[in-house]
Amino acid sequence: MPKGDGARRTGGPAVAGPVWDEVLDTEHAVVVRTYIEQWPRKGRAPEKVLVIVVEPDEETRFRCPRCGQRGRPVETDVVRWRTLDVHGKKCFLESELPRIICGEHGKITAAVPWARPDDRFSRPFEEFAAWKAAHMPWTRAAAELRISWEALANITGRVAADAAAGRDRLEGLRRIGIDEKSWGKGQDKYLVIVTDHDAGRVAWIGEGRCQATVEAFFADLGPERAKALTHVSADGADWIHPVVRAKAPRAELCLDAFHVVKWAGERLDELRRRLAGELRAAGRGDEAATLGTGMWALRKDQKKLTPAQRGTLAQIAVVNKPLYKGYLIKEQIREAFKVKGDQGKALMRGVTAWAHRCRIPEFAKLAKTLSRYKDSIVATLGGAPSSPGHAASAAPPPS
Ligand SMILES: [Zn+2]
Repeated sequence: MPKGDGARRTGGPAVAGPVWDEVLDTEHAVVVRTYIEQWPRKGRAPEKVLVIVVEPDEETRFRCPRCGQRGRPVETDVVRWRTLDVHGKKCFLESELPRIICGEHGKITAAVPWARPDDRFSRPFEEFAAWKAAHMPWTRAAAELRISWEALANITGRVAADAAAGRDRLEGLRRIGIDEKSWGKGQDKYLVIVTDHDAGRVAWIGEGRCQATVEAFFADLGPERAKALTHVSADGADWIHPVVRAKAPRAELCLDAFHVVKWAGERLDELRRRLAGELRAAGRGDEAATLGTGMWALRKDQKKLTPAQRGTLAQIAVVNKPLYKGYLIKEQIREAFKVKGDQGKALMRGVTAWAHRCRIPEFAKLAKTLSRYKDSIVATLGGAPSSPGHAASAAPPPS
């Protein structure tokens, strides 16, 4: 088994340096060594995963997860915890995990400083997963994290419980996002998730999808800390905005770029479905089918298209002008949020005007939404300096 350099120094004891403290998000873990493991895959080169062998430091060893008292170890297992990927490779923490006898709680699995009790994901992984879950559809977040949808739901639940218990996450908040998320497949259950944009972690989670839930967050935050908020981003949910305006009047209310691009994508899907229906009704089923296969090409970021998807898109550009126009509008909106600043604002003004006059009902509807949230969109675009490399994109859209 090849050994990595780990953190073991010649002749000295195993040490955990500041770099590992950052990776593990605790100073109480000692890195013993690291190694690469090869996982066989059917018909493909083996998957390489990184394993970091760790142990709890003297202070945190053999502790009861319920009361924190030190117990007597009686038996031990070797266990792995999934942690944040390293260079795109899955990464695991590996450690002996003893069962201990606690004076109060009897025989129990010892606590470890890098993960919650009885959990197989590290805390940093869970923080990141919950943060991702707050910012994109759960199916996509789960796919990107390479975990199951159910695992993501469980993680979010655990982080939610922690967030509800620990108020310190509300300290020092400046730029936050407030989003609603449906919770559980097909269940009518919703969460309001508040994320700390600066720390990149979940700050607060409450059940429900109404003004009262957002008010509960501001009640926990308190008026002093609410005053310190500079930027609040929220999706277009009408019930979030008034509460933020009332409780944090100094904060700029922004819209997450993700939501605006999503609105455009939804209108584009509507348009595609309508046009395909019209083609089928006119007996042009083949052309309707092309629109069906073109769905993914239309949805994706154009820079991430495969050659085949580029081909489909080029075909749509030739045979279906309204749909291609809708696609260009969606991509211009995406570009505006990439460019940001004055150029992004100019691009957004242009694309909104374009959508208003494009004579495509779905995009006229989008134009109305963009106009309604104009102030929030402008605030979002003003939130970061523009990138000089994108100057060419600010040219007026083609009509
Ligand atoms: Zn105990």
